[in-house]
Amino acid sequence: MPSPAHSSALPPPVAAPVSEEMRLAYVLRHFQLAYTNVPAVSIGYHDKSLSIRVAAGSADFFQQLTPYPPAPSFREWKGQRVPFFFDSEPDAPLLELHAGQVIIGADIISAAFYLLSGWQEYFSDARDRHGRFPYAASVQHQYGFVALPVVNYYFEVLKTAVEHVSGQALKPQTWRGGAPLAAFVTHDIDNLRGGWKGSAKAALQRGRLLQFGHQLWHHLTRPDAWDNLEAVAAAVAAYGARSTFFILPEHRPGADGTPNADYSVSEALQGRLDALKRQGCEISLHGSIGTATEAPHLLAEVGRHQPGPPGLRFHYLRWEPRRTPALVDAARCFRYDSSLGFAEHFGFRNSYCHPFYPFNFATGGELGFLEIPLNVMDTTLHHPHYLQLQAADILPALRPMFAEIEKFGGVATLLWHNNHFDPANTINGPRQFAEIMRYLQQHGAVFLTGSQIVAEL
Ligand SMILES: [Zn+2]
Repeated sequence: MPSPAHSSALPPPVAAPVSEEMRLAYVLRHFQLAYTNVPAVSIGYHDKSLSIRVAAGSADFFQQLTPYPPAPSFREWKGQRVPFFFDSEPDAPLLELHAGQVIIGADIISAAFYLLSGWQEYFSDARDRHGRFPYAASVQHQYGFVALPVVNYYFEVLKTAVEHVSGQALKPQTWRGGAPLAAFVTHDIDNLRGGWKGSAKAALQRGRLLQFGHQLWHHLTRPDAWDNLEAVAAAVAAYGARSTFFILPEHRPGADGTPNADYSVSEALQGRLDALKRQGCEISLHGSIGTATEAPHLLAEVGRHQPGPPGLRFHYLRWEPRRTPALVDAARCFRYDSSLGFAEHFGFRNSYCHPFYPFNFATGGELGFLEIPLNVMDTTLHHPHYLQLQAADILPALRPMFAEIEKFGGVATLLWHNNHFDPANTINGPRQFAEIMRYLQQHGAVFLTGSQIVAEL
């Protein structure tokens, strides 16, 4: 694991002591959201009369402000090798089933809390050039489980215990029409112009001046290839799905020089967005550079988005764990955020495949908006800084992750930028998007917008 690069811009952690009760409450709250009919069962650590007693394994880890716990042990659960953090007796059975009582041999409450709360990124000082917690600094990378929703596995262990003591089968949450998983198809709109530049540059590099001249003429006389919001919505609608667009209201670069939108939200564009909304698409906010760390900046962009945006995703997936969650919550208008994925790798940043309420480190409670975690972004799959998959490798690489989401009835969140619908992109372009959509459709996914996902919960 790289040693954390100290950044002077990084605010110090402001954390209330996180007690055992707080951890239990946060984890059980999400357990109850994951199943429809959880009976009242006493769950805890020390009291011998509890129906479900969990072996305490975290010692004083949560009293310290360090990002990483001891290495997990790996245990087999229904044929899957699963990492268990805070597993102080890895040779003890995972479940001891007695009459009316279950003892869980690994501290799955602490482990679920650690991963779901994002403890590692809150207490780590490691940030990349965009101020993001790097995948390379994560336990998911260190122990190789980024594509496994480990918290969902912990919940399955707990479910087995609850079913044993209650004699009642728990039903996992399902989606509209009984669908086994939901899919959230999203597009961050950074660029509406510039489509001609890529293909013109390629023509120039191939020495095809005539073609270059043609593309330049095309650019000067016709709408740009990337100015394609209606075509994107139509491509998505072909699968019975509705797009959620994240619109970037700032066209000036950020204070650090990072580009924002290459377009302005003109009256004409607003009219087009309204028309997309009438077709059932959702228009949410793509917070520009600076909005993830400065409240007035975020609020100003909310004010420019008419009417108020239902959801949010930050440009470049910027997210400062010590600032951003509280700031999104304080804006009091967002029903959801969908920024939490690793840019460098597809998978589960909080090791969970359902929406969840981010943990509030300042109070020890939860925040008031839902995080719909981001699982895969087009650029992650093929980019000089990220993965370099070839076209034919993309769906095979993602299939196991989608299978995990289906196993647990979660949400598959997909980010495909509008400029990746350009037919000139043959690696992570429209064809690969179509393959993914066909896969999700064949597996019975119900396609929902962000607001519909929130409403279903
Ligand atoms: Zn963006």
